[in-house]
Amino acid sequence: MELWFTEPHTENVRFSMKVDRQVYSGKSEFQRIDIFDSLEFGRVLVLDGYTMLTEKDEFMYHEMIVHVPMCAHPDARRVLVIGGGDGGSVRELTRYESLEQIDLVEIDEEVVEACKKYLPQTAGKLDDPRVKIHYEDGLKYIRHHDNEYDVIVVDSTDPFGPGEGLFTREFYGNCFRALKEDGIMVNQHESPFYQETAYAMQRAHKRIVSSFPLARVYQVHIPTYPSGHWLFGFASKKYHPVKGVDWEKWEKLGIKTRYYNTKLHAASFALPTYVEDILKSEEPEEEEKE
Ligand code: SAM
Repeated sequence: MELWFTEPHTENVRFSMKVDRQVYSGKSEFQRIDIFDSLEFGRVLVLDGYTMLTEKDEFMYHEMIVHVPMCAHPDARRVLVIGGGDGGSVRELTRYESLEQIDLVEIDEEVVEACKKYLPQTAGKLDDPRVKIHYEDGLKYIRHHDNEYDVIVVDSTDPFGPGEGLFTREFYGNCFRALKEDGIMVNQHESPFYQETAYAMQRAHKRIVSSFPLARVYQVHIPTYPSGHWLFGFASKKYHPVKGVDWEKWEKLGIKTRYYNTKLHAASFALPTYVEDILKSEEPEEEEKE
C-alpha cells in the first residue's frame, strides 16, 4: 500500500510526498496539526493541510530568517519571534551568546507541545533559559510593546486563518513601535511565482514600505514550498541589510551554518527582474534603491 500527502500549491498544481507513517494528528482551537514521516524529506509538520516545515529543508528557511537580521544588526540583545512555534527560528537565535532575551509569541500551544515531542530537531532549544514563550495572538501582543526589541522575526503561517492579522498594516506599524530606534523586522514574505502568493507578497510589501523607512526583500530556495522560490522581507529603522555590515564580525562568531553565509546574505538581496518589477510598483517613485 502506498500513502501520499498531497498539498495544493495552486488550483492547478499539486505537490505530493510519499508518506512512511503518520506520527501525530490533532485539532486545536486554531488549526489542524499533522506530523508524519516522509521518505524523501524526513519528518514533516503540516498545519491545516499546508506544509510548514520538513526536517530536510527547514535549515534553509530558519537560517535565512535569523542570520540575515542578526548579522546586519551590530548589537542585538533582545529578540521577539512571532509565530514559529516549531522552534526552528529560536534554535538559530540561541546560537548567539550575546542575546539576553528571546520572546516567542505563538498563538497555538498545541503546535509547541507537538513539536517538542515529535520534532526535537527544531524544538530542541525551546528550553534555553533566555527563551520565554507567550501563548497569545501576535497581533494583540505587539500592541502593548514599545521601544523594546532589537530584532523582530515574523515567522508566521500564510495570510489566512490565524496568521491573517500578521500581514496587516496595523501589525507592521506596531512592530515598528515595538522596535528600538535602530531595530530590524524580518518576515516570511510568500513567493513571487504563483499569482495568489505573488499578490500576498506585493500587498505585504506595500504595507511594510509605508511603515518603515527602509524595506527590502531577499530570496531563499525552499524545495517544499510552492514553486521552491520564497522571499523574506527586511524592514529597518536604521541599518541597511548589506551596506556597512561588518561581515568579519559575524564570521568571527564561528556559527556553523549549512545554508547561510555572508556572501549569500549579500547576494540574496539581488532579485530577478520580474520580482523587482512587482515590488517597485508598490514603492514611492522618488525612492532610489541601492
Ligand atoms: N517555521 C515555519 C516555516 O518553516 O514555514 C513557519 C511556520 S510556524 C509553524 C507558524 C506558526 O505561526 C504556527 O505555529 C501558527 O500557530 C503561528 N501563528 C499563526 N498565526 C499567529 C498569530 N496571529 N499569532 C501568533 N502565532 C501565530
